[in-house]
Amino acid sequence: MKAAVYDSASARAEEWLNIEERPKPRLEGGEILLKVIACGVCRTDLHIVEGDLKPIRPRIVPGHQIVGEVVEGATTELPAGTRVGVSWLGGVDGNCWFCRHDMENLCDHPLFTGYSFDGGYAEYVRVRADFAIPLPEGLEPIQAAPLLCAGIIGFRSLRVAGVERGERVGLFGFGSSASLAIRILHAWDCEVYVVTRGEAHRKAAEASGATWVGAEDAKPPSPLDRAITFAPAGKVVVHALSTLRKGGVVAINAIHLDQMPAFDYDTLLWGERQLRSVANVTRQDARDFLALVRDLNFRPTVTTFSLEDANKALSAVKHETAHGSAVIVL
Ligand SMILES: [Zn+2]
Ligand SMILES: [Zn+2]
Repeated sequence: MKAAVYDSASARAEEWLNIEERPKPRLEGGEILLKVIACGVCRTDLHIVEGDLKPIRPRIVPGHQIVGEVVEGATTELPAGTRVGVSWLGGVDGNCWFCRHDMENLCDHPLFTGYSFDGGYAEYVRVRADFAIPLPEGLEPIQAAPLLCAGIIGFRSLRVAGVERGERVGLFGFGSSASLAIRILHAWDCEVYVVTRGEAHRKAAEASGATWVGAEDAKPPSPLDRAITFAPAGKVVVHALSTLRKGGVVAINAIHLDQMPAFDYDTLLWGERQLRSVANVTRQDARDFLALVRDLNFRPTVTTFSLEDANKALSAVKHETAHGSAVIVL
């Protein structure tokens, strides 16, 4: 089979991956073999091939937004031919404190697809059967693949913020994750208030039917029940906090923040306001999210690449030249 391989010892900028012929993976217990149909390209893949994320293995096939078809190791739940999605969380130990308390997203010994083990930039990939989520009927591979990372995390952010039907929700930042979140929030009859820096993002928010749209430091006209921040900037988090009613929640959808500025406890956090981060996702988040995407008939804008052009796909993500999400199609 063909695979795009990152070798941490020899990779060069813009030529991070080599296309190689290698034997199809052999399965071990509890695994299935997927014939890859599509694999979304995520910014994390770029962090891996640029060495920003320390290599776990010297050679790795990236790719953690995989849609594939079961071709070996079929089970009763996943018969041969079943189309499944696989995301960043590719395995957990199942017995740490967090796993035993229904918080597998916080597992002490997680396995990450395309980082701990070979991912989906290949014709075939082996994955744990219990981490392959069947695609709901009617959901197309190319529609699902680019949503399997940031999309699910955006959805989890709404859960972490505790959004309830009909509430006032603020989105701070309006990139691809937020443009999907607004669709979900409208399906839940929420009013959506968007605060974002870029003129183009504000126009996009207006076109998506936001109740109110404001620039960077603007304050929504009414206090918000929930807010989700997407920018990796601590001052955005503090600004979001200042827009909440008592008891409101800010969910921070960022792995990294530049810094958290000092803020006034008495006016901003007092009154049982909450500040929460969002870390990884659970399989249940993935299942619920995919069903919702199908019901909303959400179709992300994608630019497709062949496996041979995997470097071009990564480059398009790096330089933000792809129209919509970059997806490798096999
Ligand atoms: Zn665990
Ligand atoms: Zn990702």
